[in-house]
Amino acid sequence: MASIRLDNLRHCYMPNPKTPDDWALKQLDMELDDGGAYALLGPSGCGKTTLLNIVSGLLEPSNGRILFDGQDVTGLTPEQRHIAQVFQFPVVYDTMTVFDNLAFPLRNRGVDEAQVRTRVHEIAEMTELTEMLQKRASGLTADGKQKISLGRGLVRSDVNVIMFDEPLTVIDPHLKWQLRSKLKELHQRVRTTMIYVTHDQVEALTFADKVVVMNFGQAVQTGTPEELFEKPMHTFVGHFIGSPGMNVLPCEVNNGNAIFAGQTIETENRLTGETSGTRIEIGVRPEFVSFSETGIPVGIAAVSDAGRFSIVDARHEDQSIKILVPEGETVPEGSAFVTFDPKRTRLYADGWLAGEAS
Ligand code: ATP
Repeated sequence: MASIRLDNLRHCYMPNPKTPDDWALKQLDMELDDGGAYALLGPSGCGKTTLLNIVSGLLEPSNGRILFDGQDVTGLTPEQRHIAQVFQFPVVYDTMTVFDNLAFPLRNRGVDEAQVRTRVHEIAEMTELTEMLQKRASGLTADGKQKISLGRGLVRSDVNVIMFDEPLTVIDPHLKWQLRSKLKELHQRVRTTMIYVTHDQVEALTFADKVVVMNFGQAVQTGTPEELFEKPMHTFVGHFIGSPGMNVLPCEVNNGNAIFAGQTIETENRLTGETSGTRIEIGVRPEFVSFSETGIPVGIAAVSDAGRFSIVDARHEDQSIKILVPEGETVPEGSAFVTFDPKRTRLYADGWLAGEAS
C-alpha cells in the first residue's frame, strides 16, 4: 500500500502544444492517502484514462512527478511500481481453471505453492468464487469473469495500488449493484489504496471515500460524496453530480447582491472584488427549491414521478428551474411561486464558487 502524490502533473499528446486546450491534463497537484478508496469521475475525454495510465506507469507525463510514499516513481515501469489493474473487459485465461487464474500473479512472482493455496482460497472466499475454483474460466458468465479479474487484482500482498478502469462496463445492469457493493466491501477488508475510474456518478459515489471530479483535463473538485453534493466548488460539479443536477441560473448583480427575476436572492456566499465582465450565476439544487406563497413566479412545464419524489420542471420565462417534491406533497398546477433555501444557495463567478480560491 502507498500514499500517492501527483506533483505538478501535465500531459500533452502533441509535440508542440499552443493553447491550454491542447493539454489532455492541464495541471494536477493531488495527494491520495494510503489505503484510501478514490474515484476519478468525469465525462468522456476529460483525461481520466490519461491520468490512470500516468499513475500506473504506462504513460510518461510531459511534466511533473509521481511519488509513492514520498519516493519518486516517475521513471519506473508498472511492474516496478507494484500496480494491479482491472480493466473494462475481464482479462482471464479461458483455458485455465479459476484457481490457476487467481494463482497466476503469485506463481509469476515465484511465491511458494503453499502460500499460493492459502491466498487463493482467501481471495476466492472474498469474491465468492470458492465453488468455482476447479471450473474452467471459459464456463463463467461475464460477471464471474470480472470477479476473477478483481480477485487477480487483490491476490498479491505487495501491491501499492489497485486501479479499476470502468470495471462494470460489461456487467448486466441488474448485477452491477452486487459487484459495486462487493468492491466496497473488499476495499474495507483489504484497505489497499484503490483508484476507480468511471463516468458514472452512482459507481463513483458508492465506491469512493473521495471522488476526484474531472473536466477538460482538470480536477475540478476533490471531496467526499457529501462535500460534492453539499458544496460544489464549480457549477460543473453541481450539475454533473445529483439527479437532476444543480440548477444554474444566470443572474444580474446590484451592489454585490444577486438579482434574479427582478428580486434580490439571499445566498450563502458573497461576491468579492470586481465582477464586471464576469459571468455570475446562482446555484441551487432541486432539493432546496420549494413552492411558497410569494417569491419567484414560475409556470409548471412538466412533472415526472421518480418514486419517493416528483421532479418538477418549472419555468421562469425561458429559464428552467428543477424542483424535487417529496412524495405526498402537492405540486401546484399551472402557475406558482418558488423560493430558494438561502443556506443552500450559492453564487458562482465564471463557474467557480464565488469568494473561494479557484
Ligand atoms: P473516456 O472516458 O472516453 O475514456 P477519458 O476521460 O478517459 O475518456 P482520455 O482518454 O484520458 O479521457 O482523453 C483525454 C484527451 O486526450 C482527449 O481529448 C483524447 O482525445 C486525448 N487522447 C487520449 N489518448 C490519446 C492519444 N493516445 N493520442 C492523442 N490524443 C489522445
